[in-house]
Amino acid sequence: MKIITTPYKIRCELGICHNYARRAVVLDRVGAGSRIHICESCMRTLCALMQEELDKTDRKNAPAGKKAADK
Ligand SMILES: [Zn+2]
Repeated sequence: MKIITTPYKIRCELGICHNYARRAVVLDRVGAGSRIHICESCMRTLCALMQEELDKTDRKNAPAGKKAADK
């Protein structure tokens, strides 16, 4: 999986977003559906949400007593 700057003028594919996509997430499979076009705004939002989820998982998996030291 990788992220490229798309040369095409194409709308962001996330939700009802109407921005133009500046990046495309290229998935590791062939075909028209293997790219997700995304604008920077959605990318930031998605990134923040994903990080939040990962942090939750990390906190859950962290050994007791380690939480305070994480900051
Ligand atoms: Zn968007």
